[in-house]
Amino acid sequence: MPRLGVLGWPVAHSRSPAMHNAALAALGFDDWHYQRLPVPPPLLAETVRALGGSGFLGANVTIPHKEAALGLADEASEAAREIGAANTLTFRSDGSIAAENTDAPGLLQALGVDVRGLTAQVLGAGGSARAAVWALLGAGAAEVLVWNRTESRARALADELGARAVPAPEGADLLVNCTSVGLYVQRSATEDRGLNQLGLRGDQVGEYSYVADLVYRSGSTPLLAAAEAVGARTVDGLEILAAQGSLSFALWTGREPPPGVMLAAARGEPSA
Ligand code: NAP
Repeated sequence: MPRLGVLGWPVAHSRSPAMHNAALAALGFDDWHYQRLPVPPPLLAETVRALGGSGFLGANVTIPHKEAALGLADEASEAAREIGAANTLTFRSDGSIAAENTDAPGLLQALGVDVRGLTAQVLGAGGSARAAVWALLGAGAAEVLVWNRTESRARALADELGARAVPAPEGADLLVNCTSVGLYVQRSATEDRGLNQLGLRGDQVGEYSYVADLVYRSGSTPLLAAAEAVGARTVDGLEILAAQGSLSFALWTGREPPPGVMLAAARGEPSA
C-alpha cells in the first residue's frame, strides 16, 4: 500500500489527511493512504530517514519541522533552498529524499491574480512570510513591503529577499497576512482589536484590492471580515492550504486532484 503523510508536532488538527485522502479516493487510488505522522523534533531525522523504507512515497511537513526537513533532504528545489524550508518531501526508490516548497506557488495559485507589476504588503516575518515574499517577488511583484510586530525580523527578512521593511503597513494592491493573528479570536475580542494587532486601522483595509489571510479556522478572521465588508477580493487560509496540498499531491502521484475536492475536504464539506 503506497503511503503518504504529514509530519508535525503537534499534528492532530491537520486537515491534510482529509484533503489528500479525498483526492486519492476521487481518483480511484484505493490502495493509497495518507496519515498523520506526529513526530517530536528530536525524532525527526531518524523518522524521515526510515519513511522511504516503510512504504512512504512522500510526506508534507508542517510546524515546527519545515526548516529541519530541508536539511535532511539529499536534493532540494530552488524554491525550498531560497526560502530555507520544505513542506514536501519525496522518498525516491533509490533511497534519496527530495525537498520541495509548495507553500510559495500554492499562495500564488490561490491568489488567482497575475501579480506582475502589483505591489504587496506582507504582514509577519516568520516562515510563511518568507515563502510569501519569495513567491511574490519571484512572480514579478513590483514591490513587496514587510511589516512585523518585531520590526528587526521584518528588516532581516526584507534585506535578505529584496523586499522593503516598513514601520507600519502601507497601502498596496495586495495584503497578505502571514502572522498567526486571527487564529484564536475570543468571543469578546472586537474586530478592530484583531486588526490593531496587525498594525492596521479599521478604515485602512479599504486600501487593498486583494486580501489573503493564511490563518485558517472555522469561520472568517477579523481581517477577512473587514476586507469583505469593503468589497476587496479575499482568499482564505483553507484555499491556500488546498492549493499547496494539490501541488504536493501532483508531485507524488503525477495527477492533478479534481478541482474543488481538496478544498471541500479541508472545509469539512461532504464530497460530491
Ligand atoms: P511563525 O514562523 O511562528 O511566525 C508567526 C508570525 O506571527 C510572526 O511574524 C509573529 O511576529 C506574528 N505574530 C504572532 N503573534 C502575534 C501577535 N499577537 N501580534 C502580532 N504578530 C504576531 O508562523 P508561520 O509558520 O509563519 O505561520 C503563520 C500563520 O500562517 C499560522 O497561523 C499558520 O497556521 C498559518 N499558515 C497557513 C498556511 C496555509 O496553507 N494556509 C501555511 C503556512 C502557515 P513576531 O516576529 O513579532 O513574533
